[in-house]
Amino acid sequence: MSHKKALIAGITGQDGAYLASYLLGKGYEVMGTSRDAQACNTSRLERLGILQDVDLLSLAPNDFRSVLKTLTATVPDEIYNLAGQTSVGLSFEQPVECMESIAGGTLNFLEALRYLVLGSRFFSAGSSECFGDTGTQAASETSAFHPRSPYAVAKSTAFWQVANYRDAYGIYGCTGVLANHESPLRPSRFVTQKIITAVKDIKAGTQLRLLLGNLDIWRDWGWAPEYVQAMHLMLQQERPADFIIATGITSSLRDFVEAAFAAVGLNASDHLQIDSSLLRPSDLKYSAIDPTCINTTLGWQASLGLPEIIERMMVGEL
Ligand code: NDP
Repeated sequence: MSHKKALIAGITGQDGAYLASYLLGKGYEVMGTSRDAQACNTSRLERLGILQDVDLLSLAPNDFRSVLKTLTATVPDEIYNLAGQTSVGLSFEQPVECMESIAGGTLNFLEALRYLVLGSRFFSAGSSECFGDTGTQAASETSAFHPRSPYAVAKSTAFWQVANYRDAYGIYGCTGVLANHESPLRPSRFVTQKIITAVKDIKAGTQLRLLLGNLDIWRDWGWAPEYVQAMHLMLQQERPADFIIATGITSSLRDFVEAAFAAVGLNASDHLQIDSSLLRPSDLKYSAIDPTCINTTLGWQASLGLPEIIERMMVGEL
């Protein structure tokens, strides 16, 4: 068992809760931050039964003093920065908040680490959205970024900030370039959770239709509890390096919708309605991602695919 201390920024979210649970199981002392620890949504930590086992602290990633003070007080061995705006759609509505919380937040952590010289290892949650529209040729660690949303621009900035502080100041920092990953703890604003909830309600007779924008988008969907294991594994390596974390399998949103309805014995075409007001200013058609590097270098591999993920989300299996 480990006696390390981990600080998880964004512990109230899907990944934060799963990561906290995983690290507690490994014997870590887990501290986690929310922008407001007194008033935050602790439902995910409660669902995993670990709310009493973690120390909750207030930290605003875009506020340098707040980051500096928290790192000084906690001196963590490992820091996982999962906080910041997380919705591509919202980033078109609140681009400044997006950039400040993701790029500003990451820079504040890096600057605090540089200033305090704590020696903490730093994981930054990146995004496969940075690659933009990949076409059917899967993006790898050597592919160029072509971000097409404020969210992806901010995540690309954060990626290069981490790489720069690693090269320039020898900070142990790395980015996990995460493809989409889901679970019953996914907030309801995300399309996968919206679909699962709607399908259940339609089956129960409490909702008539599922309204969606563009079904012809292709993504790599994985199972969140497996992805937090990859985050932890990345920080256990002798040297820091960036890795893509994905399944390597790309499916369309139409596939997701049809499989979700089929899982409860319904036909998607009987209940689906396209609503053009839900279309984004620009959307990626294909996001194909190649995880070969993490598979072969660290031995991490996603084991659950789309059918199993839908099944588990449908029954709420954590
Ligand atoms: P969630 O949305 O579930 O949680 C993110 C947490 O960040 C929230 O609980 C919230 O905590 C905090 N947060 C939200 N908005 C802001 C803001 N404007 N400023 C500061 N903090 C904020 O995200 P996930 O757990 O799914 O994702 C974890 C990380 O992985 C994120 O960085 C995300 O961008 C990245 N990622 C996730 C993917 C996925 O498919 N899940 C794919 C690619 C990347 P509180 O309100 O308590 O402060």
